[in-house]
Amino acid sequence: MKQPLRDIVGGFYSLLSGMRVTIAQFFKPSVTVHYPHESLQMPARFRGHIELVRDPATGKAVCFACKVCEKSCPSDCITVEGAKLEGAKRKSVTQFRLDFTKCSLCGSCVEACKSNAIRFSRQYNLASTNKDEFVMDLFKRLEAEGQ
Ligand code: SF4
Ligand code: SF4
Repeated sequence: MKQPLRDIVGGFYSLLSGMRVTIAQFFKPSVTVHYPHESLQMPARFRGHIELVRDPATGKAVCFACKVCEKSCPSDCITVEGAKLEGAKRKSVTQFRLDFTKCSLCGSCVEACKSNAIRFSRQYNLASTNKDEFVMDLFKRLEAEGQ
């Protein structure tokens, strides 16, 4: 076979091989989402920044500001404040400051809280050019979400 003919056959074969892969992928289920219009569902073991848990009975935070999580954090990310309301048996949280810029998602705080008042969130798409936005009051966030 002459060289030009060989090149044409070779090129055609290469084109068909490429198209075979493309067509095979076309009929497979999509594994991407149209971010930011769609969001991924994170698996149960995913660790986003910590968040306060709401008591379904009262609608308030389960946290009673015992500060055990604050003491257990090796990176000094957590500051908890609380106050005792009149007639209440124990404190209620009034501020739960998390400095997420220092958090290593180690889980010590979640493990230390025996009341299960904090957990890892499913939030995976935090982005900002301002690092102050990663210093958050989780109590305020919980209150705002409840409104
Ligand atoms: S989250 Fe748990 S450990 Fe931390 S202050 Fe609240 S109740 Fe205590
Ligand atoms: S996950 Fe670890 S580093 Fe992050 S706030 Fe909790 S204890 Fe601190």
